[in-house]
Formats: sequence, C-alpha cells, structure tokens
Amino acid sequence: MTDELTQLQPRRKSRPIRVGDVQVGGDAPVVVQTMTNTDTADAQATLRQIHELAELGAEIVRVAVPDKAAAGALPDIVRQTPVPLIADIHYDHRLAHAAIEAGIHGLRLNPGNIRDPDKVRGVVKAAKERAISIRIGVNEGSLPPLPPLAEGEMPPPKPKRMVDAALWEIGILTDMGFEDIKISLKAFDVPTMVTAYREIAEMVPYPLHLGVTEAGTPKAGSVRSAIGIGLLLAEGIGDTIRVSLAADPHEELPVAWDILKTLNLRQRGPTIVACPTCGRIEIDLIPLANQVEAYFQKLGKPITVAVMGCVVNGPGEARDADIGIAGGKGKGAIFRKGEVVRVVPEDQFMPALVEEGHKVIAEKWGDMPPSQPLAADNLGDIISLTPVEGSRPGRTSRR
Ligand code: SF4
Repeated sequence: MTDELTQLQPRRKSRPIRVGDVQVGGDAPVVVQTMTNTDTADAQATLRQIHELAELGAEIVRVAVPDKAAAGALPDIVRQTPVPLIADIHYDHRLAHAAIEAGIHGLRLNPGNIRDPDKVRGVVKAAKERAISIRIGVNEGSLPPLPPLAEGEMPPPKPKRMVDAALWEIGILTDMGFEDIKISLKAFDVPTMVTAYREIAEMVPYPLHLGVTEAGTPKAGSVRSAIGIGLLLAEGIGDTIRVSLAADPHEELPVAWDILKTLNLRQRGPTIVACPTCGRIEIDLIPLANQVEAYFQKLGKPITVAVMGCVVNGPGEARDADIGIAGGKGKGAIFRKGEVVRVVPEDQFMPALVEEGHKVIAEKWGDMPPSQPLAADNLGDIISLTPVEGSRPGRTSRR
C-alpha cells in the first residue's frame, strides 16, 4: 500500500528475551509462531512439518513433549531444525530437564499443572545455566485450584485468576534472578483474554505471547483470533502471536500474517485488494482474485495487487495498490498506483497482471527481471488452483 504506513498505538516497552537467535520483545517486530501436530517421537515427521511451517513464515515453532519418547526425539529435531524450538511441558518437570539437555531453545511451562515450587526452581536453574528463556503459559482451562473461599465469598473473576497464576510463577523465577520470561494468558473467551493481558501488561515488563486458545474451526477461529489478538496489538500490547485453529497448522500461519499485515505491523507476501462485487460487475472477479492471490503468494514479495470489478470505482479505490485491474465488458484496465497503463482483453487479465507484477518486483527488489516471461505451464498450474465457478461467478460464487 502506501510507503508510509499508518501505525496505531506505539508498542508497549517490554524486556527483550531470546529464543535461540530470535529476539522477542524490546524493539523486535512481533514474532510469528506456531506448533506442530505430529507425534514428536517421530523425529522425521516432526522435522518435515517444522520445515514446512518455517517456509510459511513460522519464526519459532513449539513442539509438544508429553512423554519420554517425545523427549528422546528432541536431540535429533533440535540438531536439524531451521528455526528455534520451544518445548511444551505440562505436569512432569523431568521432561523440561530432558528438553534442556537436548538443547531446546525455549520452554513453555504451565503454572496450573507444575505446582511444586522446588520442581519449578530446578528447571529454572537448569534453564539459566543454558540461557534458555521460559514462557509462563497460563491457560484458562487449566488454572491452579482456588484456595478455600469464606462463606459467601465470590471467586475472583477469571482474568484475575489467570493473572494471579502468572504472578505466582513469575515470583519463583524472579526470586532466582531469572528474567528471561515471556507470558501468555490464553482463553477461548476473547473479553477474558483481552482483560487478562491488559492487566498483566501494566504489572510486569516481560514480553507477551498472545493467543486465543482452542479458537475453533478455520473460519470462526480466524475471526476469533483476529479480534482477540488484533485488539491487543492495536493497543500496542503483544510481542509474539500464535493463532490456534482446529486445522492443519499450515493454515494458522497465513492467518497470523494477515493479522499483522492488517495492522501495518509487518509485511509478508502479497496483499490482495479485491472488491466485494456488486450489480455493476461484468467480469468473473472472484476466481481471478483467488488466482492472483495464489500466484503472488508463491512469489513471496509484499506487493499489493487490486482486483476490481468495474472502472467506476476500481482504480480510484485501489490507488495505493502497486498494480491492479478494473474489469468491464470483456476488457480490463491495468493500472499502477491508480494510473491506467494499458487495456487488455479478458483472456489476458491474469498474464497482464503477472507481467506488471514482475515489473514492480524487479523495480523494488531487483531480483526478478521484467523480461522474465511467465511460463505457460507455470501459469496453467496457478490457474488450475482455483476452478472457475458458474457463468457469472462474480455473483453466483460470492462467499
Ligand atoms: Fe461494484 Fe465496481 Fe465497487 Fe466492484 S469496484 S463493488 S463492481 S462498484
């Protein structure tokens, strides 16, 4: 979009920590992370997935370490991982020790289920010796038990219980002089997690890992995550994010990146501006928009491409886009930064956008010469990704 991106609130100042070679907090950009769903004991399958997730933009990956077999696979996984890894530990502090021995880059401990302070201290001591950071990962679904309530006394509200659980463990760590801490306070309920994060953001200097837990299926879960994580990021709160969907983890990363792109916090891959279609539309817009997104996603550059259904509003509404098309009556006006550069027939919409896109990429990044033609078979691959639906899908396939 424009070169000068509008920013919302300034980021909350947090104490920087490191997860391997990735800084979280301080002046680092908001870091994207996700979690594998393979059996960690299967080192090859887990490594394969970590590589795939890294390709999609995961900067840190967390792996579950539920038992000795999983811990036993960690040395191999850590040796070959392309990004820093965090071991997710619940209940058994011995698994944290095994992960530290394996060279893990970070730990996640749940204060709701490792309750013995001496066991926590043992893990902290070992982490400190290896300069491994620890996330105190509070989850609304596994809070520590409440102390007995006096007659008539109401339990504290859920956000306060979450904050108190984090503060309990923060106290153990800081009493030992350990401050390489980040904190998460995840809940399914967005107002609960937003309130909890807002409260702790005022109380401690540590970086915050944002997430809406068990957010749901891809469609509903993406909306829920975008609102929960996005509300906080818009207030300047949050140093790393994880989108949790009931889906293949590969699906989480585009959502995470879209949240950051939407708030002008980070750019990765294309931004597609596409009109919602209306009664003026005269081109097959929705499949074209999907083809454009699939093609430029593969190129991986942060280019903005507009796909507009008519010339009435198209170039004007998308004037900040690097390139775009405004279609109508079998022809399309190709524009760059709102200026029409040529008019092409409908069968040339995609090739023309690809050609102009390559020119912009070559001008901005210099690594893709404009003379490089789009191979016909390559274009065929891209176009076949998105079947054309109906005779006037601009209307019939609206979703
Ligand atoms: Fe309708 Fe044209 Fe706007 Fe698309 S760009 S929504 S077709 S007026």
